[in-house]
Amino acid sequence: MTATFGATARAVATNKGLINDPFAEPLVRAAGVEYFIRLIGDEQYAADGGDPVMSGMISVLAIHGRFLDEFLTGAARAGIRQVVNLGSGLDTRAYRLWWPPGTTLYELDQPDVVEFGGKVLRDMGVKLAAHRRALGVDLRCDWLTALCRAGFDPAQRTVWVAENLLVGYLPPHAQDRLLREASEVSAPGSWFAADHLPWTPVQLTEGRAFIDQWRDQGLDVDLTKLTYTAEFRSVPENLAAHRWVVNDRSILELLAAGGFAGRRRMSPRDVAASPRYLTGMLSRDKR
Ligand code: SAM
Repeated sequence: MTATFGATARAVATNKGLINDPFAEPLVRAAGVEYFIRLIGDEQYAADGGDPVMSGMISVLAIHGRFLDEFLTGAARAGIRQVVNLGSGLDTRAYRLWWPPGTTLYELDQPDVVEFGGKVLRDMGVKLAAHRRALGVDLRCDWLTALCRAGFDPAQRTVWVAENLLVGYLPPHAQDRLLREASEVSAPGSWFAADHLPWTPVQLTEGRAFIDQWRDQGLDVDLTKLTYTAEFRSVPENLAAHRWVVNDRSILELLAAGGFAGRRRMSPRDVAASPRYLTGMLSRDKR
């Protein structure tokens, strides 16, 4: 359900001309959740009007997605040939971005999710632009063995992406373990990008309102059952402790980096309620 929401945001944003993910809409239609299919066709999301919370959230998800497209393409240009997408959902970058020959994308998510996305695009006859290894795993447990078995090479540099994952989908100890293990198998000069929530009181209140909104609009899903709201260690601090040199951006800085500065009105409360966006590079120094 949450993977389909991500694809819905990309489908709406594609129709608005913000990004270009032509496979997002067919994936949402194939997933068959009425509410999301309605969102794609609904005029209130086609323009920046209507429900400001939902339309704002959809735009921000899409702008972050576009930022990550450029980040990943930059990593490929810098010579990285190994991409690991943690909690990849219905991501289509293996099909729609430019990749140099010899690039492998490892997509890690729940088995049903990775199999579903791959099957829909295969049935549509969509061609891959890189090697894609789809791994059905539980990221709270031993995902690393599956990754290494699939051909991941810790001696090569990696670009890691965790998009809409480190925002409460994993319990704190599993999130810490994921970041530690990813760091341990990252060659110096590897790259990392993720959004994350510093869990301020405003974020907790706004998160609650979003959950209630989904239910009020007839979606049969309780996000409280899919997410953890315990105390989390700060993701940038955590990565920095594992020798990543981290650049952590507010939503305003993300919008500015994407060329959208001043296009959305955001109150200080909106900024405080939004995720933050980090990129990092693994230091080449040994400590
Ligand atoms: N990255 C995608 C995107 O931005 O569209 C999907 C984000 S979605 C909000 C969160 C994803 O995390 C879902 O696809 C879900 O299946 C996955 N996920 C949550 N908990 C997981 C777990 N324990 N193991 C594997 N995947 C998990």
